[in-house]
Amino acid sequence: MSQTATIEPQAGTRAIPFEDYRDLSDAELDERIEAVRRAMGDSLLILGHHYQQDQVIRHADLRGDSYKLSQLAAESATCRSIVFCGVHFMAETADILARDEVAVYLPDLSAGCSMADMADLDAVEAAWSDLGEIIETGEVTPVTYINSSADLKAFCGRHGGIVCTSSNARAVLEWSFARRRRVLFFPDQHLGRNTARTMGIPVDEMPVWDPRQPLGGNPPETIQAARVLLWRGHCSVHQMFRPEHVAMFRQRFPDGPVLVHPECMMKVVDAADLVGSTEFIIQTIEKAPAGSIWGVGTELHLVNRLAHEHPEQTVHFLSPMVCMCATMYRIDLPHLAWCLENLARNTPVNRIQVDLETAAWARTALERMLEVR
Ligand code: SF4
Repeated sequence: MSQTATIEPQAGTRAIPFEDYRDLSDAELDERIEAVRRAMGDSLLILGHHYQQDQVIRHADLRGDSYKLSQLAAESATCRSIVFCGVHFMAETADILARDEVAVYLPDLSAGCSMADMADLDAVEAAWSDLGEIIETGEVTPVTYINSSADLKAFCGRHGGIVCTSSNARAVLEWSFARRRRVLFFPDQHLGRNTARTMGIPVDEMPVWDPRQPLGGNPPETIQAARVLLWRGHCSVHQMFRPEHVAMFRQRFPDGPVLVHPECMMKVVDAADLVGSTEFIIQTIEKAPAGSIWGVGTELHLVNRLAHEHPEQTVHFLSPMVCMCATMYRIDLPHLAWCLENLARNTPVNRIQVDLETAAWARTALERMLEVR
């Protein structure tokens, strides 16, 4: 019996439990995943984030970083289902941007983002209200990094704000300052600081807003002088890179450039030769002359893949520690096969659906982002 026969649609039946997939071999899971892809054809689109493990990403139709994947979801013309191999906020974004008739699924609902969890709507609304006691919020653009929940994107949509990614953060800040004189940037303080500094904004005009403290832990005069208010959040993966890792790499490879992601702390960015988004990092390695040696400070799976796919270069992971995104790693072959086979037999699991009002306002902020290059 072919593997395809195991996924015949059985509408009305109960979903296959995940337990049935736990003990299957990788080879069998690969085969069953590919059987669903063949059976569903163009009606299925599997999107894979670059930080996914190799055994998952090889089943993706398209790969990208958050920005590219959100564009791909918005542009998808033929599919009816998107299975998103990434984390929760990415699947939400795909649901908001894709055509109405497209349903989006996340193979494991526990695949979240620790950075996104560092800002929630209640805390941001409280901060907005507190800011209104000190300054005119009409002169503040709320900017959320795409690594945030849909209701925070909707907050930005409602308040004249915008979403950014690491690919277009500078263009988004320019867009914001062309309209209003201040920015409230959440949830990643490092991306906000590193980007605003490239525009000449001094660090002392970028106070950190700690949501657990009154007025974010700032005296009123600091807020009045602020150009960018930086939410106290960070990526637990990129925060692990340290300036001393750059120094250690330089000692070993004095001619090897260091390339890092802007979610790294400012001291690491200052010590590096190049800083840029995931797509920038990939393109830089792809275009580099053969024989060059690189120290790369971003998620481990991506760096290992770059090293493997570019044997003409020597690509080193910058940190001696394991900096991998543990939540991305939750998307594995058993979850992908479980999600796909249930989808194919019309007993879908793990659909991500943003309520209509939140989606409408979040789409406003996301469409502004997609228009800013
Ligand atoms: S790498 Fe960091 S920002 Fe990206 S999903 Fe993982 S925890 Fe979130």
